[in-house]
Amino acid sequence: MDAFYDEGTLVAVLTTQPLDRLLDYKAPEGGCWEGAFVEVPLGPRKVLGVVWGPGRGDFDYAKVRPVTRVLDVVPMRAELRSFLERAGEYTLTPLTAMLRLATRAPGLGEAPSMRKIYRLGDVERERMTDARRRVLEVLSEMGGLSLTQGELADAAGVTPSVIKGLAKMGAVREEEAPRDTAFPRLDPDYGGKALAEDQAAAAQSLREGVASGHYGTVLLKGVTGSGKTEVYLEAVAECLAQGRQALVLLPEIALTSEFLTRVEARFGAKPAEWHSGVTVTERRRVWKQVAQGGAQLVVGARSALFLPFRDLGLAVVDEEHDTSYKQDEGVLYNARDMAVLRASICSGRVVLASATPSLESWANADAGKYQRLDLVSRFGASVMPEMRSLDMRAETLPSNRWVSPSLQSEVLARIERDEQAMLFLNRRGYAPVTICRACGHQIGCPHCDARMVEHRFLQRLVCHQCGETVPKPEVCPSCEAEDKLAAVGPGVERLAEEAAELFPQARLAVLSSDLFGSARALKEEIEKIASGGADIVIGTQLVAKGHNFPLLTLVGVIDADLGLQGSDLRAAERTFQLMRQVAGRAGRAEKPGVALLQTYQPEHPVIRAILSGDEEGFWQAEAEERRAAGMPPYGRLAGVILSSTEAQEVFDLGNAMARQDAPLRRIGAQVYGPAPAPIAKVRGRHRVRLLVKAPKGAALQPALADWAGQFRLRGELRMAIDIDPQSFF
Ligand code: ADP
Ligand code: ZN
Repeated sequence: MDAFYDEGTLVAVLTTQPLDRLLDYKAPEGGCWEGAFVEVPLGPRKVLGVVWGPGRGDFDYAKVRPVTRVLDVVPMRAELRSFLERAGEYTLTPLTAMLRLATRAPGLGEAPSMRKIYRLGDVERERMTDARRRVLEVLSEMGGLSLTQGELADAAGVTPSVIKGLAKMGAVREEEAPRDTAFPRLDPDYGGKALAEDQAAAAQSLREGVASGHYGTVLLKGVTGSGKTEVYLEAVAECLAQGRQALVLLPEIALTSEFLTRVEARFGAKPAEWHSGVTVTERRRVWKQVAQGGAQLVVGARSALFLPFRDLGLAVVDEEHDTSYKQDEGVLYNARDMAVLRASICSGRVVLASATPSLESWANADAGKYQRLDLVSRFGASVMPEMRSLDMRAETLPSNRWVSPSLQSEVLARIERDEQAMLFLNRRGYAPVTICRACGHQIGCPHCDARMVEHRFLQRLVCHQCGETVPKPEVCPSCEAEDKLAAVGPGVERLAEEAAELFPQARLAVLSSDLFGSARALKEEIEKIASGGADIVIGTQLVAKGHNFPLLTLVGVIDADLGLQGSDLRAAERTFQLMRQVAGRAGRAEKPGVALLQTYQPEHPVIRAILSGDEEGFWQAEAEERRAAGMPPYGRLAGVILSSTEAQEVFDLGNAMARQDAPLRRIGAQVYGPAPAPIAKVRGRHRVRLLVKAPKGAALQPALADWAGQFRLRGELRMAIDIDPQSFF
């Protein structure tokens, strides 16, 4: 039970301001609960805070200022407070920054704004046009529920002017209502599909877990198209039936609209959405309704984990291996791990769904920490695509061409049969390198240790690190030679150019995240492709994730070796996941699919593992290598990135940190580095990296805090500590 503080009692308030401690205030008139959201004076300003506990009282009582006011929102529950504390300890993030994550809905303190809603009026309904009659029908079917003009026009399939006309004649009533209304109720029994045998068994197991009311994590592994989504929606149904709330995290906003449609078909209404594409007013509504219990299911991006759920019973992390779950700026957290942490605090279940799980989750299941459920075949008639390599050493290709003759003829065969083919290249833009043929100069970013990537669609060069763009120069910036700048290497835009020449009769669709101004435009393009509006889909990583293209029967991977270069710990795992995911796009409907991997090293163990499809064998081998090296998940890593505008300053600090490593040695950890980070300069800041490696059971975070605490960051110096780093840039 949360404590209540009478007026005048000292309370400690956590604010969202970057201070390193809680601040004492006097409880306001009427008192306040622990967890209450409050507004407090801080200097000349008023800031948002949460009553975190009793005040410390180490300050002259007479000088302590009172809380300005208590906000009219549900106080933060002990469960969320404890989650923020523990997530902050795990990621070494100040609590103030954690609170910012949990209050990403502007205007929480404002009185709820009003909006116009429409109800059935009571006027004779004769001599109505069809459009008008439909509006009235929708309203009477909805019973007491009120709709906004937009919702009503949508549901009835009419223009807003029809509704205005009805309002004028009194057939519908216009009323003012608070904006932050509850979401439509979801019905767990609305529209479940008949499940296949293995689906039903998995669903039953998930349902029992949810019904148990205890924490537990399940790895739901199933090939793409095996029906994992249908299965975990059953867990959601059970959770709703128990009266608890559910959260589904998706790795990509572009996937949400397809998913929302499926939720509607399953539960009879759409859930709440939470991601960067949601308007500010809608975010506030979601935030408040999640707290009040007026939102039963939230579908969203990783930050939805920090919403103030009244009673979270289930969190699903779809495509749990996806790297976008790792936040790589600001608070460095992994949403998958944080979902497990939160569920363990609120007695919820976690479902991690993937066709190609992360090695971490695979190992946790292997060790018995997670339960594992497998769906081994695709749903219905569709079968997994056949996978083959195309040995590029045996193909003859003119320079600046990337589609081999073998792949070309396979694509042609698909077009002739009115099927779709996909060409996959995980590189945005036109060409990764622009070189001067006169002097050999490569155009780099002025702020970063990175080459500028030509984007011909934008007619600019773009830095993929910092986003800097410049018009493509006419002359070499180094030797000023004219017309000597040449594009080197392929990006998707250049691949599209090649495809247009090779297949002049085909309709092309290029999917790359930077080619679409909005999530909506991207969604429309995806729908167009799904309904047969393209013959060849050319795409980056964006196409690997979850989309359903029923006509697609061939996937050609332009450069299967791309991800294997570099020294990243996870290079093999990533390539394996990505290739299997992309291949999984083929043959999702009745027609069988084929995936062809262009490679110069068909004998490479990772390429062979991808082709053989022996996933368990691949994981075992990867796991053995990591175990032997003491690497995650069999050991622990933390990355430290130091940066400054002054190169010398960063190296000096890095060297000092490497020398003064006693707090780390005490737990048996070692420091590697300092070394220039793989991208040694970003946005004008020089970057140096240290890597800390510790044994599995070591208390890494406190040791890191002690170690880092020895150093003062003066001037321009910044330090970012990344626990369980996913990549090493
Ligand atoms: P996954 O999430 O494993 O990739 P999905 O759940 O998206 O698989 O299922 C793949 C396709 O099969 C979808 O179009 C889905 O609607 C369909 N499907 C899956 N299970 C069933 C079922 N039991 N009955 C009817 N259709 C199903
Ligand atoms: Zn840059």
